[in-house]
Amino acid sequence: EKRNGNEAEFLNAVKEVTTSLIPVFDKHPEYIKAGLLERLVEPERQIMFRVPWVDDEGNVQVNRGYRIQFNSAIGPYKGGLRFHPSVNASIVKFLGFEQIFKNSLTGLPIGGGKGGADFDPKGKSDAEVMRFCQSFMAELYRHIGMDTDVPAGDIGVGGREIGYLYGYYKKLRGANDPGVLTGKGLSYGGSLGRTQATGYGLVYFTQEMLKSKNDSFEGKTVVISGSGNVAIYATEKAMQLGAKVVALSDSNGYIYDENGINLDVVKEIKEVKRGRIKEYLNYVSTASYTEGSRGIWTIKCDIALPCATQGEIDEESAKILVANGTKVVSEGANMPSTLEAIKVFQDNGVAFGPAKAANAGGVACSALEMSQDSMRLSWTFEEVDEKLKNIMVNIYKNSEKAAAEYGHEGNLLMGANISGFKKVADAMMAQGIV
Ligand code: NDP
Repeated sequence: EKRNGNEAEFLNAVKEVTTSLIPVFDKHPEYIKAGLLERLVEPERQIMFRVPWVDDEGNVQVNRGYRIQFNSAIGPYKGGLRFHPSVNASIVKFLGFEQIFKNSLTGLPIGGGKGGADFDPKGKSDAEVMRFCQSFMAELYRHIGMDTDVPAGDIGVGGREIGYLYGYYKKLRGANDPGVLTGKGLSYGGSLGRTQATGYGLVYFTQEMLKSKNDSFEGKTVVISGSGNVAIYATEKAMQLGAKVVALSDSNGYIYDENGINLDVVKEIKEVKRGRIKEYLNYVSTASYTEGSRGIWTIKCDIALPCATQGEIDEESAKILVANGTKVVSEGANMPSTLEAIKVFQDNGVAFGPAKAANAGGVACSALEMSQDSMRLSWTFEEVDEKLKNIMVNIYKNSEKAAAEYGHEGNLLMGANISGFKKVADAMMAQGIV
């Protein structure tokens, strides 16, 4: 706390993880002696840089860029880039810290990293976004590489941005090195299934949670927040499994469609027009729109899948979900539930799927993209989807097993933290004090 006193998100993430790890440290005093916790919470490297660019009116704009290389014990740093005005050192740091355990949980050899900038792509022209991405990469390129650090997308960084970033990386390096970034287009080293991976993976994970109670998505009412990459593909898979998704949101407000959201319309608005979720009413006049995104949690549902951003479900929203009879909350976004909200779920028997386990499908698929790039070949959509499903089932099983082993049966949050931590801890122990 002394060193990171002003980094609220980071301190919360550390608190959540370390609380879960108490039984592990009780059983393994050698971890304490090796200073594992002190080493884990200190990033290996943190880079902060100026990103100057020229807007369409000819004005010079300056943003701040970040890359945090948190932990490389089990593989190259891996984690997304976020472009959003709210990005700051604390947010990048909490995301990077979470990423260590998430990546470990996938069972694949990837370390933890994260990055981004306080740039807002909303309302910017393609040319402005390109100039920003090029300026961002003009610094980032010297810190990344397929064996050292492999960034990907996150909020505000999708296929368009990854394309501009990769194009400029290639120009600067003078080499075709597709394994340096993931989330690329299919024509230049991307993987089939990456677009769908986080949303689909979230639903596969949640399906395992339901299965353990002899239940399924069939006939369930689902509320999903956000309407970006994760939310759209979580909606698609939940619908394929027989659920009815009745609400989606963006940072301005939410739509409610009691007949079930028409996903083609949402894709048209969000993926093609890059518009606002409010425009759904132009296509489906029977739906309703409410200003303010938090109200989405007042809608009665069996399953809630927060897929927008951190801190979007607070204690009050959690209590409303419980009162409305919600049985499962599973996190597509990173840290969408506050610590107080998680406590409400746990105290009231709501099955809780923690982000670092439930949304690990995206990074898992990114690691599959790295493998394909290294082998210079492409798997089919079905092959990637099958691997993704297996990975999500394994993450669920390992989390469940670790929770039971340390006396907290059914607590997937503890299980995921413990299972993710153990692999990294053992690798750090083996590699000495570095
Ligand atoms: P997108 O940029 O595609 O979409 C984000 C969505 O969340 C948009 O609908 C956005 O609305 C909304 N949103 C952002 N901020 C807020 C807010 N303060 N209140 C309400 N809604 C908000 O991002 P992704 O779908 O990729 O990411 C969503 C979450 O999932 C993030 O937490 C991300 O870290 C996490 N994640 C993403 C992965 C991926 O593969 N994409 C992998 C693992 C985790 P608006 O357009 O108004 O900003």
